[in-house]
Amino acid sequence: MSSATGTTAIKSDDLFSGAIHGAYGFRLTGVGQRLELQELPSLELGPEQVVVRVAGCGICHTDIGYAFDGVPTRHPLPLVLGHEIAGLVVAAGDKVAHWQGQTVIVPAVIPCGECPACKAGRATICRKQFMPGNDGDGGFATHVVVPARGLCPVPDKLPDGVTLAALSVVADAVTTPYEAIRRAQLGSDDIAVFTGVGGIGGFGVQIAAAFGATVVAIDIDQERLDLAVQHGASLTLDSSQMNDRDLKSAVRSFVKQRSNTGIGLKIFETSGTAAGQTTAFSLIDHGGYLAVVGYSPRPLEIRLSNLMALDATARGNWGCPPEQYPAALALVLEGKVALQPYVEEHSLDEAPEIFEAVHKHAIRGRAILIPPTH
Ligand SMILES: [Zn+2]
Ligand SMILES: [Zn+2]
Repeated sequence: MSSATGTTAIKSDDLFSGAIHGAYGFRLTGVGQRLELQELPSLELGPEQVVVRVAGCGICHTDIGYAFDGVPTRHPLPLVLGHEIAGLVVAAGDKVAHWQGQTVIVPAVIPCGECPACKAGRATICRKQFMPGNDGDGGFATHVVVPARGLCPVPDKLPDGVTLAALSVVADAVTTPYEAIRRAQLGSDDIAVFTGVGGIGGFGVQIAAAFGATVVAIDIDQERLDLAVQHGASLTLDSSQMNDRDLKSAVRSFVKQRSNTGIGLKIFETSGTAAGQTTAFSLIDHGGYLAVVGYSPRPLEIRLSNLMALDATARGNWGCPPEQYPAALALVLEGKVALQPYVEEHSLDEAPEIFEAVHKHAIRGRAILIPPTH
């Protein structure tokens, strides 16, 4: 652990020499292995890249998939995981020098900007995209090298109760449901239903309410449902106590009482579980819309023809294009999306233990790893 102690802080005006002394990260060396502290002695910086001194990096269930379930990373192991990063640009390549000294959110998926998909406005399916902690070392570290393209600037002065470290979750847990909601063209006529209101769904509820929709929250956890009520849900349903048929009739009767004129429910599957996906699919009504936001490796048995019979739409989104980040961040800075009730901050130096706790579901909120300040 000697590299973790005695580290000197990098000042934003430090000149980059190709080496950042004392930089370290926690690498995954093999599936099922404990994350390992390793020094990052030389951070190679290209002309269009920056070095971000990490203020915080959220732990996502995708990281758990890489570490424990054998989901392959595109860059071979060992690799520093972590794609939910906020921090300060402490070094910038020749072509992107204006980023020096800027606080930023690093998008979880950074498209190339030049391929046919990017040019067609489908940047999230760019095949040359860079994802920190998947295509290269990520944010469970003191520093990370990323492309400058797509960085989301964060104002120097943040509102009370909002920290740069907490803003790391905007990189994925906020922007992914934001993009799903934007694509659904959610508005004040609509009723939005979320299956799963933990981190991703908890932010989704708040974003949907900010878009003016009436929100229904479904979860197996009463505490999460209580939190959803405090943050914009008009109806909560405990799916640990109800089967899909009961849930459907409860939602139907709620819709009847409302004067919303939107055609069809807009359903957001944010649990990332097979049970949540089954529930979400069963709720699709005439003209309904299902957004698949959460990920589960498990297959489902569903009657796909319901989409035909109900003239309904189902759609997924892989992250969020960088140009949408400023609008998602604005919702947080305006106080419309609260982060603090949904996040837990921990020291980066406890990364292996915290990572294990997230894997075992022993941590309720979105865990954020924060490098120690020196
Ligand atoms: Zn993620
Ligand atoms: Zn591209």
